Amino acid sequence: MTRKIIHVDMDAFYASVELRENPSLLGKPVVVAWDSGRSVICAASYEARKYGLRSAMSVAKARILCPQAIYVPPNFDLYRSVSRQVRSVFERYTNMIEPLSLDEAYLDVTVNFKNLPSATAVANAIRADILSLTGLTASAGVAPNKFLAKIASDWRKPNGLFVISPAKVQDFLAPLPLQKIPGVGKVTLAKFHQLGMFTVSDLLRFSDSELVFHFGKFGHRLYQLARGVDERPVESNQVAQQISTETTFDEDISFAQIEMPLMTLCTKLWGQLLKKNKFGCTVTLKLKTNSFRIITRSKTFSVPLHSQTHLVQAGLSLLERVDEDIKDNQFRLAGIGVSHFPEEHQAGQQLSLL
Ligand SMILES: [Mg+2]
Repeated sequence: MTRKIIHVDMDAFYASVELRENPSLLGKPVVVAWDSGRSVICAASYEARKYGLRSAMSVAKARILCPQAIYVPPNFDLYRSVSRQVRSVFERYTNMIEPLSLDEAYLDVTVNFKNLPSATAVANAIRADILSLTGLTASAGVAPNKFLAKIASDWRKPNGLFVISPAKVQDFLAPLPLQKIPGVGKVTLAKFHQLGMFTVSDLLRFSDSELVFHFGKFGHRLYQLARGVDERPVESNQVAQQISTETTFDEDISFAQIEMPLMTLCTKLWGQLLKKNKFGCTVTLKLKTNSFRIITRSKTFSVPLHSQTHLVQAGLSLLERVDEDIKDNQFRLAGIGVSHFPEEHQAGQQLSLL
């Protein structure tokens, strides 16, 4: 059966919340960031984007591009509370919700609580509900899988909806520039260009093994994505109990420097698990960039983790799964957690039988 996936993405979320809180800022270039030379932009209003300001840009650079920009310090408690409201809207339609950050989520609406006739109808209803509840706009992408839904939500931004129906997948993908594929950063893009590849249709000329030869494991994924195939499920149970530990670095560090502190965190976490006598099946890595973007990667084993070495190996393998373009960032925090404890599984199964 074809799945119906929606990717919902709030428009310039932190900046839009600030504009809502202080309407005198409307129409002005507003930047959410600590106003210091060392900090980076957390979010830029659409007016600020006209000057080239972008999230993750250094404030030092932004000051040159747009000296008149207005700086508002981030208020994450407020963003979290609005994010909870947005989630409450999702919950009116489905319980298969996978949040990616405070302002983005995947929803599986193959079946929806309101029996709306199409995923497009669900996406429009959700956008209208979010607007009436929070006064903020969201963009949405509707597609048969997560990969396409995520691209689609960006297609008509801001305050837009774009639908890629199963019949249109190949027509949509063929002319798509390769940099639109999530996970394709500067390095991969340069390699594509060297190989004479510019759009997804160029990818179709290469076999699975040729792509793996050029791009490693990512090559296999590229082979599938070029054909519109992405079987990743919407993972909605990430909020289940998790035992975790994290650390904020004294100074932001590069991706290459994360490995050592991550191993220390694994050792510490293993001690906690031993103490609580809890051994879970899922390991989740969490990283926070210096622009406060949170990245998580999870891996679930069929049996609970049985040793500290096992946990360390899992943590390091999750680090390898971080997308190339994210690796260019500086990082301020790393964390590691374990969830899906076997007794929980059983409890969950019993619940679903009722
Ligand atoms: Mg957003």
